[in-house]
This record gives sequence, C-alpha cells and structure tokens, in this order.
Amino acid sequence: MRVPEIPEEGAPALRAGDPPAPAPAPARPLIRRSARVPRWRARLADHDAASLAELLRKAGGTASAARAVAGKVMRHAFGAEPGAERPPAWDAAALAALGVGAWAHEALLALEPGLSLEVAERAPSEDDTLRLVLRARDGALIESVLIPGPARTTLCVSSQVGCARACAFCETGRLGLARQLAAGEIVDQVRIAQALALAEGQTRRGAPLRNLVFMGMGEPFDNLGEVLKAIRLLTDPRAFRFAPSHVTVSTVGVADKIEAFFREARAELAVSLNAPDDARRQAIMPVNARFSMAVLKEALARSLPPGRRVLFEYVLFDRYNDAPDDADLLAAYVAGLRCRVNVIPCNPGPDPALRPPSAERLDAFVARLSGHGVTTLVRRPRGRDVGGACGQLAGMARVRQPAPA
Ligand code: SAH
Repeated sequence: MRVPEIPEEGAPALRAGDPPAPAPAPARPLIRRSARVPRWRARLADHDAASLAELLRKAGGTASAARAVAGKVMRHAFGAEPGAERPPAWDAAALAALGVGAWAHEALLALEPGLSLEVAERAPSEDDTLRLVLRARDGALIESVLIPGPARTTLCVSSQVGCARACAFCETGRLGLARQLAAGEIVDQVRIAQALALAEGQTRRGAPLRNLVFMGMGEPFDNLGEVLKAIRLLTDPRAFRFAPSHVTVSTVGVADKIEAFFREARAELAVSLNAPDDARRQAIMPVNARFSMAVLKEALARSLPPGRRVLFEYVLFDRYNDAPDDADLLAAYVAGLRCRVNVIPCNPGPDPALRPPSAERLDAFVARLSGHGVTTLVRRPRGRDVGGACGQLAGMARVRQPAPA
C-alpha cells in the first residue's frame, strides 16, 4: 500500500471541476521552505565520499580520479586517530603531499574544513553525562549529550533545530521546527564531542566514543537526506569509522520513509511507540493521525532487512500506558516482528499530567512484557539534573545568547 507523503510546501492541489470546498483549513505544510539549511560557504563535512567525488568530477576529473581523490581527502580530513594534530592542514601543499593533482585543488580548497558549530554551554551532570549546547553560524542553538559508559561512550545527536512533530511529552516538540541541520552540522556534533571526550580522558570514567544515537533534537526522518549523508561519512572506514551497528536512528514513526532508510543506510532503527493503541498514541503523538500503528507495523514488516531487528522505544507514563493490560497489548503489537523493546520511564516534560511511574509499576510492566517472550530493556534516565535526558532538549528555549557577529 502507498502511504501519503508529507508535503514539503503548499497546500494540496485541487483538480478542475472539484466543487468549492466548504472552507477546510488549508493543510499547513509540516516542513516549510524556510526550514531549509541556510547556504554559507560550502563545507567539507557536508560531503560524503560520493558527493565529494561528484564535485571533483564536475571540476574536470575522470570518474575514477575523482573517486580516488575523494577517498584520500576523506582519510586526510576526517580519518586521523583521535588525538592526532587537529585540524589537519588544508592548503595546496597539503593536497600535493597527499598526491592530489593540481586540477582538483581549486574545487577542494573552496570548501571550508573547519567546524560549523561552536560550544555555547557545557552542562556536566552529576552522573557524568555532559549536555552540550552548540551554536550554529546563524545563531541557532542545538544540543548534543555525551553519555559515558563502561564499555563505550554514546553521543546523542540532534538532526534539526527544533522539531515539527509536537509530541506532548517532549520539550523539543514544543519549540516547533526552526530549520533543518546540514550533514556537516550533524557530523560536527561528533567532531566536537570526540575532541571533548579525549580532552577529558574519555570523559573520566568512560570508554571511547563509539556509539551514536539520533535521539537529540528533531525528527531524523524529516531530514533524511542530510541524516543519511552524515551517516555515510561517519561510518566511512576512511573517515570516522563508526560501526554501522553502533549508529541508531530514532523516528516518531514516519512510516513512508522506513523503506528508504533501510535501503540507504546500514544503521540501526529505533521507533518511538510510547502507547499500546491508536487512541492513546494519537493523543500524545500527532504523527499517529497520519501513520496509524497498523500502517507502521506493516511498513516495518515489509522493509526490515533479513537478520535485522528494530528497537521499539516505549516511554512509560504513570497510569497512562503502564498497566499490565497495556504490556499485553504491546506484546501483541510487536508479535511477529524481529525486535526489542526499550522501556523508558518518562522524564519530566512539558505536560505535567505525564509523570514517571513508580518503581513497582515499572518493574511489573517490564516483567509482564518479558513474560510474553519480548526482549525488554530498561533505559535508566541519565543527565536529568541538567535537562539532558530524553525529551528534555530545548537548546533554543533555554539559552538565549546573541548570534556571533
Ligand atoms: N524524533 C525522534 C528522536 C528524538 S526523541 C523520536 O521521536 O524517536 C528520542 C527518544 O526520547 C524517543 O524515543 C522519545 O519518545 C523519547 N522521549 C521524548 N520525550 C521523553 C520524555 N519526556 N521522557 C522520556 N523519553 C522521552
């Protein structure tokens, strides 16, 4: 079945001969034209190897020379071991030393190699989580959260400035969408975090940064092109070398993008379910009006590649979706899909009526779900004291600082 697409702009066209509609409110486009990324000087980190090769081909290289140069540049600019001299030299001499022919220099040196973001605020939590507020060139503020763990450190990255999806329990959803992030702005969250993790001795007790989750501000599937490009650069063995299995993209459930995601990315998928039936899901997640739970499940069943599984996120709200019967409904919903369920006690968000359950109700829910044979994990809140936990990221609302001159 074909699922309707989100219009990028404009209201749906009327056909000639349609009776004049009794003034329905025009469908407001979810992603406005003004939400697109502003164009500054083109940046190196906005390119993956394929798009860089394409740029070099246009600059006069043959396809194979362009690919070879793109590979060398990826390795030089992004592939250094953490701790190596930064930033790598970016001038004609450095390119010549890499064996890059003069024909490619002008096109390459037109690209800005530096960071597109600067650190506006660092908020270290008592539990060692570090919330970062980052400022883009246009003054937009986004947040990333560095979460050290014993086996590996995780970075939670943002994919948009704000979010259009308006989930009732999420601070970012309250902001609305200001604009998309460029691929380079996504990658630069990782570059900044890598440098910080290193400077802090891999964040004091933690291990190296090896895990990325697109669970910060924004809906990654509403900015899928840039997210995919960033993932290709971050998982390129010549560049950042993240294992695809250690990159997780979390979506509210934009069902018509799931197939494209699995076709284009070798990364893990997480889907925020958060309720066991359509009525309750719709009441807290407007996306459900467009893509019902049945449509979502059908898209997952159809698109999940062999051997892969999806991670369902289920935020638990006290006496809203945490009854034993709800665990039964949830188990029935996920039956037949290769999946795990991540149960997340809710963090205090914009709606005071949505509160975390007691430890007893949490344990009972998890036991009931596991009892159905569902692989169930519990995500313990991290970074709550500094507003860095799931659903609490609201960079723009929290810090208002003048944009750089
Ligand atoms: N837009 C994407 C990614 C950002 S949210 C998505 O919705 O999946 C990342 C995760 O945090 C989601 O699973 C979301 O359901 C969860 N979350 C949002 N608000 C929360 C809150 N107040 N408490 C706990 N988890 C929350």
